[in-house]
Amino acid sequence: MDNAPRAKVFHRAALSVVLAAVASGCGQEAAISAGSANGGAPTAPAAPAGSASAAGSPAGPDASSSAGAEAPARAVAPMSATVAAPSGPIRVIDMHVDTPWQVGFKGRSLDLLEGQATMRQLEEGRYAAITYAIYISDKLHGGHPTISDADSILKTVEQIIAKHADRLWDPRIGGVAPADKVTAIISIEGAGAFAADITQIDRFIARGVRFVGPVHYSDNKLASSATGAHPGHGLTASGKAFCRRVYAAGGLVDVSHMSDESFADLVPIAAEYGAPIVATHSNARAVADVPRNLTDDQLRAIAKSGGITGLNLHGAFLRAGAASSMVDAVKQAKHMIAVAGVEHVGIGSDFDGATPPSDLADASRMPALGEALRKAGLSESDLRAVFEGNARRVLAWKPKVKDGPG
Ligand SMILES: [Zn+2]
Repeated sequence: MDNAPRAKVFHRAALSVVLAAVASGCGQEAAISAGSANGGAPTAPAAPAGSASAAGSPAGPDASSSAGAEAPARAVAPMSATVAAPSGPIRVIDMHVDTPWQVGFKGRSLDLLEGQATMRQLEEGRYAAITYAIYISDKLHGGHPTISDADSILKTVEQIIAKHADRLWDPRIGGVAPADKVTAIISIEGAGAFAADITQIDRFIARGVRFVGPVHYSDNKLASSATGAHPGHGLTASGKAFCRRVYAAGGLVDVSHMSDESFADLVPIAAEYGAPIVATHSNARAVADVPRNLTDDQLRAIAKSGGITGLNLHGAFLRAGAASSMVDAVKQAKHMIAVAGVEHVGIGSDFDGATPPSDLADASRMPALGEALRKAGLSESDLRAVFEGNARRVLAWKPKVKDGPG
């Protein structure tokens, strides 16, 4: 969800390469992990769950001491091995789409016959997986979103998956995704409500949430936002505990929408857990200078962690201050690849929550984007890495269960 631009510009590009995409040869999608990884539940004491009422204190960068629980300490191994990419036509794993918000709050029918990510568009776009965000608006209940909101939006996501069971595949049931279905991954965007009881995130991760973004457009009790009033605040004490808890439970913290200081605070926490840092839908600030995009140093930090940055197709994040097009998406992708490496760039379209350029108007345009990237010099293995292989790798990450003392 990013329909609220800010602006400035400049640019650069170049390109590197390499990634040996290993064909699995099975004719089906390699499993996209449904999460719930994790051995043993985190042991932090539960805070009172009265949090779900709308009357909580206002979210703000200074309100850092609320949450009730310490994060569980757990040693975790380095990132898990790369998951082999499947053979066959290149498909897309999209790490951020806002269709549930359209259904839950904008009156879109569950039939999904309109918008930027209809079933037909996903099919034409050759989607292997789509990430439906539980977007918890900062504005709910007069600025006091609650954990109950997250529950009700998750319900909407589950209704979408159930309604389109013939096209969507729910990875939570286990097994291998049929080749003709689109795996439905779930994420959270804007988790400030969880400051009231950070232990509650465990059950969302257990129910399939893979990416968890602590903050959205405004600062909250977990983190300062890239677009917040006090972006320099960083992760609060509860925010740090929350991020540890996400990793311990097998989820991945999403740095998209974090301020630079929140990002910096997350880096050592991800390292503690050997977790790849993920920005599900962010571009390069060097190409489009807006706070929602990442600096080159941040792109490199993500790469160093084994993580990924998903190319966001929101027009104002592709090119700041002027109309954008496919050309700008290619410029962004090439810059991100040049800086971070081709193994650390993916796709996070922001469809149904963004205003993409007219030549990237909806999910059906992904093969056209692929073609443009080929023309710009990406090899087939580069393209497969960016479109699906890299996301597959980070989704396969699991915290290592530590057995025995020491
Ligand atoms: Zn967003």
